[in-house]
This record gives sequence, C-alpha cells and structure tokens, in this order.
Amino acid sequence: MKANGESAGVLNGVRLEPVAPGSAVALGNDAARRAGAPDKKTLEAATRALLERLADLQDVFQADGRHALLLILQGRDAAGKDGLIKSVYGAFNPTGVRVAAFGPPTPLELRHDFLWRVHQVVPPRGMIGVFNRSHYEDVLAVRVRQLAPEAVWQARFAQINHFESMLHANGVIVRKCFLHISQDEQRARLLARLDDPRKNWKFRLDDLDDRARWDDYTAAYRDVLARCSTPAAPWYVVPADEKPMRNYLVARLLVETLESLDATYPAMNPAVRDAARDFR
Ligand code: ATP
Repeated sequence: MKANGESAGVLNGVRLEPVAPGSAVALGNDAARRAGAPDKKTLEAATRALLERLADLQDVFQADGRHALLLILQGRDAAGKDGLIKSVYGAFNPTGVRVAAFGPPTPLELRHDFLWRVHQVVPPRGMIGVFNRSHYEDVLAVRVRQLAPEAVWQARFAQINHFESMLHANGVIVRKCFLHISQDEQRARLLARLDDPRKNWKFRLDDLDDRARWDDYTAAYRDVLARCSTPAAPWYVVPADEKPMRNYLVARLLVETLESLDATYPAMNPAVRDAARDFR
C-alpha cells in the first residue's frame, strides 16, 4: 500500500497475512483481538483514506475489465459481516459491486449441486462481488448440524478447491475473510439484539443453537482454513472483536489486492478518435 499521513508508521505492520495452506490456525478467544492495536481514531482515519483509495482503484479496475474480484465473508452469527459490508460498500461506485447473501438452500437449490447457486452470482470481469456467507456453509453448517452424511461434506473440500482454482484461472481474484469473534463478544452482541428494540429483528433462536455448538464450529472452521486456503484463493483470519480494526484490515486487503492487479484505463481505439474529430 502507498501509505501516507501520520498514521503510516504505526500501521505499517497492521495487515492481514494469508493462512498458510495446511496450517493449524489458532482460533481461541485471544485471536479475536490484535495485540498492541493503534487507537480507534487512528484506525478510523486510516480506514477513511483507504476507502478513498478504493474508490479510485475500483474505477480503473472496472474500466480495465480484465479481472473480477470476489470477497467471501464468513463468520459466526454477529461476527459483523453486515457491518463490514456497510462500512466498505460506501466506498464503491454501486454500479460495479454486487452483494450476494446465502441463507438455507431452497428446495430447488437442494436439487442441484451445492455450487450451482454460488456460481450464478460470481461477479463478471470488471465487477466486485461480496458474498455474505457462501459455499463454505456446505462444509460448516452442513457438517455441524449434520445435514448431510460425512462422505458428502468431506468430498466438498476438494470440490471447492477445484471450483475456486477454475475461477482464478478465468480471471476471478478470490479473497476469503473469516471474521473471528470471541465467545464473550458474541454473547454481548446477541444480548444487544435481545435488549435493543432497534436490533430485536436480527435475533434468531437458531443463533443460540449454533452458539451451543461453538467448539464444533471451531473445528469445522479450522478444517476449512487448513484445507481451502490456497495460493489461488487464500483465507485470511480477521480479528473482529473490535470493529475499527476489522474494517481497517479488510479495507487494506482490498486496496492491496486491487493495487496488485496493475489495472489501467484502456487506450481509445484510434478509429473512434478519428471518427470523433469533427465533434471536437
Ligand atoms: P446472517 O446470520 O448471515 O446475518 P440471517 O440471520 O439474515 O443472516 P439468513 O441469511 O436467512 O439469516 O441465513 C443464514 C443462515 O443460513 C445461517 O444460519 C447459515 O448457517 C444458514 N445457511 C447458509 N447456507 C447454508 C447451507 N448451504 N446449508 C445449511 N444452512 C445454510
């Protein structure tokens, strides 16, 4: 990132690193916060600068049209997927970004292979797509809630890797973020949904069932991170207890990803320029 401003120094090393393929990632409560984090004001100012940069990068990315960008967001209930999308989405020209959310599959979706509904909403080149949950639910919720036999969901890890590698080979840049919150923070956020009338509508009893299966989800997420973080489609663990840090880290990842593409504005076709000479 081309960092500037007074916050550049303290934020130098504050970035996400991809999960090394096959590695066992620590997903304890400690990992939900970043030690020695800069203060909230510094992070928020730096995030605003990143979001401005993102707007410029999206413009040239859209014009360049050689790649698509797909950001996949996973996390437990109340991990902040919606809040993150809200904070980052505003940076973009809405014509170039599309959010897709994945709830329980419909009867029709269940009659198809699990990637059918996902592939349809993968962004085309020039577009940014954000997935709020994704095909990873098919090896997370499906596994933990025992919605399919083990042989079925076990086979999906390889199927997912093939799918994402195919997308990569076809110009789709895939970045996957697991928003990791601690048990205490989830409890506080679920209680806020119960207590705050403006948040009551977000509360679902199913969230309590999933919370009761905390350790099973941890094991399932660890497998996902170890088995599906690949060079073509890396996973990142985002410490998400603190929202300013979460927003900064993901905004920075997006900026660095788009910068790495070296997108350029296409030159005007000389024939078009000639034809428009009279207009000038
Ligand atoms: P969120 O919890 O993501 O904020 P929400 O409360 O509005 O969203 P929905 O989007 O309707 O709820 O559905 C989310 C739920 O759908 C989650 O509990 C998730 O585990 C479940 N889900 C998503 N995909 C699948 C799948 N393939 N199989 C089973 N359950 C799934």
